[in-house]
Amino acid sequence: MLGAPGSGKGTWSKFLSDALGLPHISSGDLFRRELAKDSPLGHQLRSYLDEGKLVPDDLTIRLLGQEIIEGTGQQGFILDGFPRTMAQADALDALLLDSGQAIDRVVEIQVSEQVIIGRALSRFVCEGCGQPYNTTTMKPQVEGICDRCGGRIVRRSDDNEQTLKQRLKAYREKTAPLTDYYQRQGKLAVFPNDGPPDRKAQQELLELLGQAEPVNEVAD
Ligand code: AMP
Repeated sequence: MLGAPGSGKGTWSKFLSDALGLPHISSGDLFRRELAKDSPLGHQLRSYLDEGKLVPDDLTIRLLGQEIIEGTGQQGFILDGFPRTMAQADALDALLLDSGQAIDRVVEIQVSEQVIIGRALSRFVCEGCGQPYNTTTMKPQVEGICDRCGGRIVRRSDDNEQTLKQRLKAYREKTAPLTDYYQRQGKLAVFPNDGPPDRKAQQELLELLGQAEPVNEVAD
C-alpha cells in the first residue's frame, strides 16, 4: 500500500487484511512497537520518527525483511508502508524472488493535501495493535479504548504540523517515484480516497483488486 502520511494506508490495509484473510505487515507499526519497548533499537528509531524522517534503508530492509520471512506463509500478505524508497523496492523484489513470491498489486491511495493534513491532525492510534481512529468518522465505541484489542488509544508523536511537513516532503521526494516503477510493471492500482472509509469505498477498493465480494465479512 502506497500513500502519503494520513492517506489511510493503515485503515485500508487492516480492512484488506480482514476481508481477504491475509496478514498485515506495517513498517510504521513495527517501528512504533520497538519505540514502546524502549530498547536501544527503539532509541535509534525514535530520532527518525520524531523528526518525520525516513529510517535508513539498511536498517529498514533488515527489520522488514525479517518480519516478512518470519511473519508470512506462502498465502500472501498486505504490505503497508514498505517499500518507501527505490533501494527498498529493489531489496523487496530480491527477497520475494528468493522465496518464490512476487508483488501482485500495488495500491496507491490518492488523497488531496488538505484532507491529509486534517486527517493526520485528528488521528489517534491503538498502542497495542496500531488500529487507527479519529475524532470524526472513526471513533472507538468506548473513549480511549481500542475496539479490536482493548489497548490504549493515543496520539502518535509524529502527528504534529511540523513533523507532518517533513513526512510529506520525504513522501514526495523518496516514495512518490515508486508509483512510476510499479506502473511500468503494470501493477499499479490508483485508489482515490478523499471521502470516509464507508462501505462504498470498501467495495471500490475490492473491485480495483478484482475482488468484487469480500472473502470475509467485515464490519463498517
Ligand atoms: P507510517 O506509520 O507508515 O506513517 O510510518 C511512520 C514513520 O516510520 C515514518 O514517518 C518513518 O519515519 C518511519 N517509516 C515507516 N516505514 C518506513 C520505511 N519503509 N522506510 C523508512 N522509514 C519508514
